[in-house]
Amino acid sequence: MLSKLAQRLMKPDPRRCEETRALMSAYVEEDLEDGERRSVDRHVRFCPRCRTVLQNLRHTVERLRRLGRAPVDADVESAAERVRSAWRERAYPGEPRESPGGEPGSDPHTEAT
Ligand SMILES: [Zn+2]
Repeated sequence: MLSKLAQRLMKPDPRRCEETRALMSAYVEEDLEDGERRSVDRHVRFCPRCRTVLQNLRHTVERLRRLGRAPVDADVESAAERVRSAWRERAYPGEPRESPGGEPGSDPHTEAT
């Protein structure tokens, strides 16, 4: 009885999954606010799918960090960025990748003026 109720209460909300996955890369990089980190913690505790995803991501990031232990910090940065964008594609398939706000000189409006 009680466990059924608990199960219903703890049922993973798909919207939560999206939120959690969006936060995950920052989570593994320890780049989250306390509250956000806690909400990821809480979610993965009862959402096995997100937990698996988080574990995989963590392994990937750890491996990249180890590989990227080069004297140049930028290497690590770009590795992390690569993970992040790869992650975005996997988390939100079909969504266009974030563009850095248009290429310089390719905007027809600036030429028209
Ligand atoms: Zn989930």
